Amino acid sequence: MSKKTLHALTGEEQFVRRHIGPDQAQQAHMLQYLGTDSVESLISQTVPENIRLPEPLSIGRSQTEEEALAVLNKIAQKNEIYTSYIGMGYYPTLVPNVILRNVLENPGWYTAYTPYQPEIAQGRLEALLNFQQLSIDLTGMELASASLLDEATAAAEAMALAKRVSKNKKSNIFFVSDDVHPQTIDVVKTRAEMFGFEVIVDQADKAPEHDIFGALIQYPSTTGHITDHSDYIAKLQEQKAVVSVATDFMSLLMLKSPGEMGADVVLGSAQRFGVPMGYGGPHAAFFTTRDKFKRSLPGRVIGVSKDRTDQPALRMAMQTREQHIRREKANSNICTAQVLLANMASFYAVYHGPEGLKDIAERIHRFADIFALGLQQNSFTLAHDHWFDTLTCEVSPEARQEILSRANTAKINLRTDLNTLSVSMNETTTVQDLQVLFDVFCGEQHGLDIQALDQKVVNGDIQSVPEALIRTSTYLDHPVFNQYQSETDMLRYIKRLENKDLALNHSMISLGSCTMKLNATAEMIPVTWPEFSNLHPFAPKDQTAGYQEMIQLLSDWLVNITGYDAVSMQPNSGAQGEYAGLIAIKKYHESRGDGHRNICLIPSSAHGTNPASAQMANMKVIVVACDKQGNVDMDDLKAKAEEVSENLSCIMITYPSTHGVYEETIREICDIIHQHGGQVYMDGANMNAQVGITSPGYIGSDVSHLNLHKTFCIPHGGGGPGMGPIGVKSHLEPFLPGHAVTGGAENGAVAAAEFGSAGILPISWMYIAMMGSEGLKQASEIAILSANYLTQKLAAHYPILYRGQNNRVAHECIVDIRPIKEETGISEMDIAKRLMDYGFHAPTMSFPVAGTLMIEPTESESLEELDRFIDAMVAIKEEINKVERGDWTLENNPLVMAPHTQDDVLQEDWDRAYSREEAAFPLPYVRENKFWPTVTRIDDVFGDRNLICSCPPVEAYT
Ligand SMILES: *Cc1c(COP(=O)(O)O)cnc(C)c1O
Repeated sequence: MSKKTLHALTGEEQFVRRHIGPDQAQQAHMLQYLGTDSVESLISQTVPENIRLPEPLSIGRSQTEEEALAVLNKIAQKNEIYTSYIGMGYYPTLVPNVILRNVLENPGWYTAYTPYQPEIAQGRLEALLNFQQLSIDLTGMELASASLLDEATAAAEAMALAKRVSKNKKSNIFFVSDDVHPQTIDVVKTRAEMFGFEVIVDQADKAPEHDIFGALIQYPSTTGHITDHSDYIAKLQEQKAVVSVATDFMSLLMLKSPGEMGADVVLGSAQRFGVPMGYGGPHAAFFTTRDKFKRSLPGRVIGVSKDRTDQPALRMAMQTREQHIRREKANSNICTAQVLLANMASFYAVYHGPEGLKDIAERIHRFADIFALGLQQNSFTLAHDHWFDTLTCEVSPEARQEILSRANTAKINLRTDLNTLSVSMNETTTVQDLQVLFDVFCGEQHGLDIQALDQKVVNGDIQSVPEALIRTSTYLDHPVFNQYQSETDMLRYIKRLENKDLALNHSMISLGSCTMKLNATAEMIPVTWPEFSNLHPFAPKDQTAGYQEMIQLLSDWLVNITGYDAVSMQPNSGAQGEYAGLIAIKKYHESRGDGHRNICLIPSSAHGTNPASAQMANMKVIVVACDKQGNVDMDDLKAKAEEVSENLSCIMITYPSTHGVYEETIREICDIIHQHGGQVYMDGANMNAQVGITSPGYIGSDVSHLNLHKTFCIPHGGGGPGMGPIGVKSHLEPFLPGHAVTGGAENGAVAAAEFGSAGILPISWMYIAMMGSEGLKQASEIAILSANYLTQKLAAHYPILYRGQNNRVAHECIVDIRPIKEETGISEMDIAKRLMDYGFHAPTMSFPVAGTLMIEPTESESLEELDRFIDAMVAIKEEINKVERGDWTLENNPLVMAPHTQDDVLQEDWDRAYSREEAAFPLPYVRENKFWPTVTRIDDVFGDRNLICSCPPVEAYT
């Protein structure tokens, strides 16, 4: 008997085999179909010789799941979790276990994509609508968006909105109250600098002295003060300023809302509604405003529309405002947002209901009151008369030192400034915690009795919320927030919504450019380890050694993979990375006296975030044409670079191109730009076709973002979270983002936390560790193999728009539906909807070319799954042929009537030209794993004409 090698028996490379869908035999089959004999020869036919890496990556060998988890666990143990009273927008929270396990740790929720195909996304659309309702109710405003990246970027978006809508067109000044969180001020200043706005940071009451287009205040303030801003807001509005209020969900359960004070925009973080701190994120920011500003709203909005049968149905509304449509005229560059986290926060509200939430807020507030009373009895001076959860007291340097030293012994983090200490109470605070806090502040002999103090608070000895600020308006009256308070009901509600959505745990999601690959369970496990999830982003560095080490290792790997010299982990989405990268370019030019360089060349094939980000960096966009093969038109590029040479800032280019080909001229493109003194920004969204084969740095680019939620396995979460770290060459390193609280302060911040959404970085760490140098390269190769296999198979039935050398494509391909539509009337939309009946999510529709479908299979899908998808596409083509031949009319065929719901096929009077069988079970495999869309085709136009972005009353559903 021949024996296996020990190497094989110990399971090395086991993960690589699990991550990569096609096994050896399947790969051989696919290669044979493509007429090549090896992966190596396929790659050399596909990737230009002059960009192939001369050396393998130096990540090391692949680790098994168990090994990698053990190593990472050791690193995680180096984080020390102190009890956090730091506040500043981040609070310990109790994640309801039913939400932890069934949402955060559930692939049905975390592997879904942004709900661009709403018929198979009604579950997360409902959860997001609940988030909007929650935001509207608590802030007292009219309209909410479905999450932004964090509180600080939401504040920057509020400033941009103010500029757009303010009637004070002359002013270029934005006022920020000095008691706004420091990280928020930092991010606002960065954004303002780019737009060329002046920011005045001063005491709130100074604002009316200035001629401003907008103002940002915070309530409760960063040090905990609460006051009624109504008169103040009215006064500023009289002077035509648009007033934004940063606030805190928890406090609004007890306090008069900013909406009732007349605010124009209200924003903040929903983190403390059941989302772990995660050393800074990911969390959802909320953003609400007046109905009349709806066209200027940043980010996505969920709206209520109806389907073909007039049933209410949800969808993303007003998409024409978004970056992918408006490009350099977009309101914002936001693409990936924070859907998973917004959904967790909305489920938290559904789970607790208005009463339960109010109890939590009152408990937090009670602890603050008791603590305040005790401090006052011990002769401490409180900085404010009124507060919700945060107390700031003035202390002498000696007392401060003593208290901090006792706090350290008790493993407690306080917020500390030169002359003050602050304590923010939170949902996890207990009576015992309060006892310890008294010991820390007053020494052990304080003799305070919490019961007695509580009695005094109950008797009204302390008036920490003035009468005028007590909330009288109701909230969360809608049935959804009052129906699911038993765990059984909650569990079933979550499951019911999950069942409406198609995610990666059902079938392949071949969205071009989005790289929906395996999000392995082993990668997800560390995310909810307390050592990673319970750290405050502003905890002292000596408590975060584990995070520092993990981030350093991951940065080193990414440096190796990208061929750059340094990485910044701050940007919390790809688009944020673009913005951070363009800032670095801009500052670099300025440092050389080239501040006038402000022109950004962008090929017409670029993703909408590219021009939108360029606009945010105040660059002027000039579009470069593409030729018939989809490549950058070199003559046009040369001419335009020449023309604007003096003022050329950079080019933004995606590689391989969004047309799915490795442009042969990429090195030449980089050279041309450099010759004219410009920089090259290479959009890294397509890194899944580069890793281990080539790299942006090697090709000659200066800066790129990486979508860790594409190439590096962070799941898409139904539309976020994500991470968009940027890699740069050394000359740009001095211009990477800083951070006012924890990092270098020379450069402004682009996100609220120094390392963005640090809490999900372990996912990419695990992926790279388990793949190793060889596995990573294989992943890219098999992604290319699968894409070419799929392209070749489909080419017999559909026109393929672009191909590269030797007729190969990169890791994705574009199927051109325009000629089909021309001849038959069947559109890419009909095909996308019909795919749902076959159990598949549509590929990317109409990007980068209108009327097309862009397909990216990734390396993670097995040959069986690829073939099922191909069979579906081929069967759909046969259906189209029937329409073309006149067997079916254009009005009565399974394509235009798709998708089919159960209701639909169970109708009494079936008047279709095709059978119920053909409608619902068009191929044999569908029967074994049927996915039922829960609504029929949704009416987009109706939804935008009759905009409703809050929960409809229950009657609407009956
Ligand atoms: C996804 C993508 C982006 C934007 O990244 P986000 O993380 O969604 O902000 C930019 N460019 C391309 C080509 C993309 O595919």
